[in-house]
Amino acid sequence: MSRSARLALANMAGGIASYASKKLKVGRGETIKGRVILVIDPKAISKLARDRDIVLVSGTNGKTTTTANLAKILALGTDEEVSTSAHGANMAAGIVATLASKPRNRFVVLECDELYLPTIYNLVAPKVIVLLNLSRDQLHRTGEVRKVAALWQKTFNRDDVTLIIDRDDPFLEFAVMDAGHVIRVTFGGRRHPDAATCPNCSTILDWTLGDYQCKCGLGSKLAQVRGGKGLTGPSRNAILAIEAARLMGAIVPVEYQNELTANPPDRTQVFNIAGRTIETRLAKNPESWRVGLTALAAPQIILALNARGIDGLDTSWLWDINYTELLGKEVICVGERKLDIAYRLSVQGIKVKTADSFAQAVSQFDNRSIEAVASYTAFQDLITTELGISAKRGVTR
Ligand SMILES: [Zn+2]
Repeated sequence: MSRSARLALANMAGGIASYASKKLKVGRGETIKGRVILVIDPKAISKLARDRDIVLVSGTNGKTTTTANLAKILALGTDEEVSTSAHGANMAAGIVATLASKPRNRFVVLECDELYLPTIYNLVAPKVIVLLNLSRDQLHRTGEVRKVAALWQKTFNRDDVTLIIDRDDPFLEFAVMDAGHVIRVTFGGRRHPDAATCPNCSTILDWTLGDYQCKCGLGSKLAQVRGGKGLTGPSRNAILAIEAARLMGAIVPVEYQNELTANPPDRTQVFNIAGRTIETRLAKNPESWRVGLTALAAPQIILALNARGIDGLDTSWLWDINYTELLGKEVICVGERKLDIAYRLSVQGIKVKTADSFAQAVSQFDNRSIEAVASYTAFQDLITTELGISAKRGVTR
């Protein structure tokens, strides 16, 4: 069978599997489509990537949002249709499904899992890679941050791609130390919570006013682009996405740029729980817990923690976070690992209780406002429950 006939057959079979998956309501059909394509044609990724202009987005926080933003900016700024992975499917199966869906689109923006990035980089030959910040995440799977940074450092030693990085992150500076083309964006410098020691030589890093230096030579470098100082993570990621779109040839109107960086979408959703309206923030890893805790304004707080695979089985990161924002508030912990977080908070002198569910937590509070922060699967459980409630309402109507 010729190379292109095998790919066509793989794509057709993948399409049928995707259709069946959607019909049977077992999934959105992307992952199953990708898996079938790869079984029939293991070389499908590189075949489908040939002669296309591809951008990869990777890093710990904000991959899905940044990928969506970048695809939108690129489409607007080039007036061309852009293929992109819309639902965060960021491993081989999801990536091949995205590439196969509209193979004539020149531009493709792909979200990529941190550990898969080297493989996907070698398969798709991207023009640009946007590296978002690295911080501790899913410790049982990825290990310490320096493990991912070291993997990237071994990978990016050619000059066939342009890497766009936040120059204030020492792990990224280490990751690109041998790379040929790097565009550094600075946000005025800021101390990285996981980088007390040098990612390159493990010596204590010398931090001064948000810039760092090590005797091995690793240190804050001159940046080509200046973002604003004190921006939130999502705003910083939006600026990196804009730089990537420009590099791909897009014209980005200033108004659009301002809007994107001033109002970046965040992962907050309002749920109706036991008759109360509760603004709930998704926190997938220590850095997003830090951001989530800083944003809390209500006097009564629910923290929901699970430690299923995708949340990260290892909860030792709870001890790396400062919970000062919670002092003086009433906190109730729920979820499968509620005791882990409740004990951690009690050590910091925070008034804390536990409950078996969100609803039970709500029943223990008075009528002042309540806000919540939930780990990934705890947040998904809330969405499922909410959808369940809406579906039931739909039936009774
Ligand atoms: Zn060093």
